[in-house]
Amino acid sequence: MAGILFIISAPSGSGKSTLVSELRKQVGGVEFAISWTTRPPRGSEEHGREYYFTTKEEFQRMLDEGVFLEHAQVFNDHFYGTARKSLQEARAAGHDLLLDIDVQGAAQVRAKMPEAVSIFVMPPNPRVLRTRLRNRSRAEGVVNEEEVYRRLNAASKEIENYREYGYILVNDILDRAVAQLEAIVLAERFYRNGEVIAYRSRRVLEVAAACLQSNSHERLKPVLEAFGIFGSTGQQQLNFNEDSDEEDSTVDEENPDDD
Ligand code: ADP
Ligand code: 5GP
Repeated sequence: MAGILFIISAPSGSGKSTLVSELRKQVGGVEFAISWTTRPPRGSEEHGREYYFTTKEEFQRMLDEGVFLEHAQVFNDHFYGTARKSLQEARAAGHDLLLDIDVQGAAQVRAKMPEAVSIFVMPPNPRVLRTRLRNRSRAEGVVNEEEVYRRLNAASKEIENYREYGYILVNDILDRAVAQLEAIVLAERFYRNGEVIAYRSRRVLEVAAACLQSNSHERLKPVLEAFGIFGSTGQQQLNFNEDSDEEDSTVDEENPDDD
């Protein structure tokens, strides 16, 4: 059975890695492509687990040798790339493959493989995103405000690309977003490979369909407005009237699995 290629993108701090790690606990058969990066490890990250860490020189050499399926310079800073080998190995094994890549890399992959399933994860609003970026920094031992704001300012630009993606998740309540991501994977397996969904199949297909970009207009309106994108003509301005962090929720208040 042919494996499905999933691309997942999100502004940094939206919760993409958290969602992917939850998905992999709950759904078998999804390989994760470990990217190469020139950025230094963060917190407890390990070479060969989250990323393959390398130098700019080595990355350039690999690039010249055609090692990468796609690559990008993210935040005008470090380089990131997916090795072709990841895709070849997943294909040979017939496994699904998940690429966690930025909007530039996603565009490169879509151009080569239009059949890829693309998913864009949005944070609910800029203040929640700032809270998550700060919390993550705190958990890693130091809050680098400059880095937090650099990533925050890049967020609106990245969110502008949401129209290029087939599915959109708003990662507000974690359990709900995980259930939606799981539903997308199971629904795509069902439609593309005829794979049977073991439980609550109709509900799973409905949850996935609601996440299609074409069905997400109303759901996305407040998010786009909060990021100054919807209906905006000029440069976006992220406005924080007060400096307190937003309450963030990991509580499952509205579980789509509850019939
Ligand atoms: P990304 O991979 O998109 O950069 P992370 O997965 O590292 O983001 O998440 C950033 C921070 O936000 C982490 O501290 C994570 O625990 C937290 N987080 C992720 N999703 C949620 C959520 N739905 N509610 C609250 N906190 C979340
Ligand atoms: P971080 O430094 O927070 O881990 O990742 C920063 C950004 O780089 C995220 O948007 C992430 O998706 C992206 N990224 C990670 N690996 C790759 C990759 O292999 N290629 C591309 N194009 N982007 C990547």
